[in-house]
Amino acid sequence: MASSILSDCSSCATSRLLPLRRALHPPPPRFRPSPGPAPSPRRPLLLTAAAPLPLLPRARRMAALSAAASSADPATVLADASAKIIDGKLVAKQIREEVGVEIARMKDATGVVPGLAVILVGSRKDSQTYVRNKKKACEAVGIKSYEVNLPEDASEYEVIKHIATFNDDPSVHGILVQLPLPRHMNDENILNAVSIEKDVDGFHPVNIGRLAMQGRDPFFVPCTPKGCMELLHRSGVEINGKRAVVIGRSNIVGTPAALLLQKANATVSIVHSKTKNPEEITRQADIIIAAVGVANLVRGSWIKPGAAIIDVGINPVDDPASPRGYRLVGDVCFEEASKVAGAITPVPGGVGPMTIAMLLSNTLDSAKRIHKFK
Ligand code: NAP
Repeated sequence: MASSILSDCSSCATSRLLPLRRALHPPPPRFRPSPGPAPSPRRPLLLTAAAPLPLLPRARRMAALSAAASSADPATVLADASAKIIDGKLVAKQIREEVGVEIARMKDATGVVPGLAVILVGSRKDSQTYVRNKKKACEAVGIKSYEVNLPEDASEYEVIKHIATFNDDPSVHGILVQLPLPRHMNDENILNAVSIEKDVDGFHPVNIGRLAMQGRDPFFVPCTPKGCMELLHRSGVEINGKRAVVIGRSNIVGTPAALLLQKANATVSIVHSKTKNPEEITRQADIIIAAVGVANLVRGSWIKPGAAIIDVGINPVDDPASPRGYRLVGDVCFEEASKVAGAITPVPGGVGPMTIAMLLSNTLDSAKRIHKFK
């Protein structure tokens, strides 16, 4: 039974994690894609599977496991005879390759090279790392990068002026303002200044509004929730008619993830910090997306057997055994959940790598749309 599963998650008291969390993320940024490889003491045994495995009862999953051991689908790896592990690194690699092929095809046919402009304000180390990683990823697939670095004390007007220049520049197809912005700036004014046709982060209220409306489509879907959906699709998880629970309701992850699941015909509940019975609600879900920022919040007992779990959380916890003194864990207790779930993303190596892959994909889509290239 799920409730009888014991793990080290119970010893990861949140209060013990908070000082470390603050030290590593001071204050927590609103946009936190994976900064790169991080130590993981509990890597699953990696096996490849022939095709996305359906979510099966445990006995049949065992049989599928042995069949999968001799085959080769890079999107899927399997852990110790329990949940299928959805390998975000491999899926992201596949997507980057697909984007690279499409960019080459477009360049050959039209001479157009997609362009992504990034505006960075201030000198936060984590933001600089993310911007550097995005630039590298762009180069690798053939997207041209444009970068503006402004000092911490730059004015909102200066940022908006650069956005306006990129809005009018035909060689730029995507504009991204690295968050968080310095405190004296109003995020809303700045994000609203980005042309909705170049809003590759998908944070413009019109894009979110279109996502929420029946019969409308946004120009762009925010990268992290889009990555969650892509992981579900590419792992063969059926969404149509299923019950889904999204834990967390932020503008950048939880809310758009819930809207996307609903658009894909799931029946969706949202759990947040004021929800009275989160465990009971979550246990009804065939699909769980957790985007909270609380280490190991979701325990094995919260999970319906066979459910698919996408863990967005990235939480540093104390680990003296690791060279960095900490390791990253998700919002879901992996050790317990992987014994109950049908499929689960690891942290790190799950959703994290998908965010940049989706940014590349959104930039390509934008260039195709602007140049009417099919
Ligand atoms: P956020 O803006 O802080 O939102 C957290 C959400 O979780 C809020 O809606 C909050 O509810 C809810 N919440 C907090 N404590 C809760 C609890 N005990 N039970 C239920 N719900 C609770 O965070 P975010 O930006 O969405 O990020 C969430 C996590 O995802 C973080 O760990 C972040 O590092 C990670 N992340 C990863 C990526 C990636 O690329 N992999 C990208 C972005 C974020 P209220 O609304 O009621 O306050």
